[in-house]
Amino acid sequence: MSEVTVRELAEVVGIPVDRLLVQLGKSGLPHTDADQRLNEQDKAQLLGHLRQLHGTGESDTATPRKITLKRKSVNELKVSSQGRKKTVTVEVRKRRTYVRNAEKQAVVTAQPEDGDEAERMEAAKRALHDEAKRRHRELDERLRAEEEVREREQTEREKLELEQRKSAAEERAREKEREKQRAKTEAKPGAKAAAAASKSESIEAALAAEQAAAVSAKRSDSRKAERGAKKSERPKHGRAELHVASEKSGRRRKKPKARPVIKASPSRHAFELPTAPVVREVSIPETISVSELAQRMSIKSSELIKAMMNLGSMVTINQVIDQDTAAIVVEELGHKPVMLKEDSVEDHLLQERGDERPVVARPPVVTIMGHVDHGKTSLLDYIRRTKVADAEAGGITQHIGAYHVETEKGTISFLDTPGHAAFTAMRARGAKATDIVVLVVAADDGVMPQTIEAIQHARAAEVPIIVAVNKIDRPDADAERIKQDLANHEIIPEAWGGDTIFVNVSAKTGEGVEELLESILLQSEVLELTASDAGPARGVVIESRLDKGRGPVASVLVQSGRLEKGDIILAGQ
Ligand code: GDP
Repeated sequence: MSEVTVRELAEVVGIPVDRLLVQLGKSGLPHTDADQRLNEQDKAQLLGHLRQLHGTGESDTATPRKITLKRKSVNELKVSSQGRKKTVTVEVRKRRTYVRNAEKQAVVTAQPEDGDEAERMEAAKRALHDEAKRRHRELDERLRAEEEVREREQTEREKLELEQRKSAAEERAREKEREKQRAKTEAKPGAKAAAAASKSESIEAALAAEQAAAVSAKRSDSRKAERGAKKSERPKHGRAELHVASEKSGRRRKKPKARPVIKASPSRHAFELPTAPVVREVSIPETISVSELAQRMSIKSSELIKAMMNLGSMVTINQVIDQDTAAIVVEELGHKPVMLKEDSVEDHLLQERGDERPVVARPPVVTIMGHVDHGKTSLLDYIRRTKVADAEAGGITQHIGAYHVETEKGTISFLDTPGHAAFTAMRARGAKATDIVVLVVAADDGVMPQTIEAIQHARAAEVPIIVAVNKIDRPDADAERIKQDLANHEIIPEAWGGDTIFVNVSAKTGEGVEELLESILLQSEVLELTASDAGPARGVVIESRLDKGRGPVASVLVQSGRLEKGDIILAGQ
């Protein structure tokens, strides 16, 4: 079998005759017909061509029988797009047929499938490449878009910050102006117009400065935007026009903020927060209810209750608190407490009372003092019994505390409060009710401790003393001894060159009583006692008691002025 026809070889190899003819032609052999013969040399030439074509290199003489190998390989391509990773599976199929060379001058042919596979592989690679490119492009575009959005947001943020800074600056300027104006108003109320003018001017200046700052900021913004964008040959204004739309919207937002500032500045009726707390003088009486105290401080009762709670005192709205507590709370709340005295009204009345009214001579007020059992009560009783008309007391003997004794030479007011306690009590109240003290000393007894005490009281009150030596009717009465004893206490009788009147009396017999009354009147003349008998009356409460039928009753010695029926007596010290 050295020579075969083309058809036979085609049958052996298993390919169509036409295809073999084409390959023979490509290998440089002249065969064009299926029946033409191929010798060994021709076959070798054909094999060499085919080997060269497919790069198989070495002769495949050892290749055994015809073997077809199919191979399938799967590759995975990892593609990331839009931030997501995607895996693409690529399947490659290969088939190779080996023909035994020894038997039939085996021809290793690259199966047409091989070429197809390669083409498919190429196509798949291209497709993948294209896909990757497309995704890359998309990613780029998206990143660019995001970058633009970020830039826009940044610009907006800067604009907002600028606006905020501007409004803060305006606010500061306004505040400064307000302060200035307030200071000016306080210093010179007449300079209001000037202050307003300067205020508006400075506001305008501040606004102008802010606007200039805003414009420069905007320019820097637009420059930034230009740098970011691709360079264009358009003029600057043309490019600025691109940003007009976005900036205009910003301006529209700014204007309403700027306008009220200009409007508010000249307005004088706008509410201004008080800068300093209002300190009130809160008058506090002896006791005050919580609600009334809150009202005086112009705060809500609940606020006062809260403040007191903070001070550790739980009170209700109607609770009455004392003056000291109220003062502490008032001070705590920053006000000034003014303590009111209960008798402040009376003090006010007394202050109003003028002393320029005409004065007249008045009767002396006499108090009888002396040691116990020396006859004070007896003497007073005698004088009242003999000298005071019964009709004055309505026929009923009652204790009235004081009474007038009418004599031919004048009137004497006796305080029916024998004893030292009353005198001392009145003195303690600062009231000088007595003009003359009648010191009763029993002639049969002498100077006793309470006698000495009475002398001291009278001296302390700087009241002249008239000594009534009582019980002179007694057989053992010794007036001279009394004089002697009293002289030891610096009560020197006139007869001995002193200034004290000594009268010997008897409350029992009435001896010397007239003389005593005359002495009292004589002494009062020396004293030149006068008082006003017009205007509001002023006097001293001699004694007071609670009468079952009439309630509180007081005996009052009117020392000046005139007390009419129905007058209200204000009791004070
Ligand atoms: P008083 O404590 O100073 O008020 O003294 P009283 O007036 O109560 O008198 C005491 C006592 O002395 C009474 O018993 C009186 O009768 C008596 N008495 C008072 N005055 C006289 C008087 O002039 N002569 C006589 N013999 N007895 C008198």
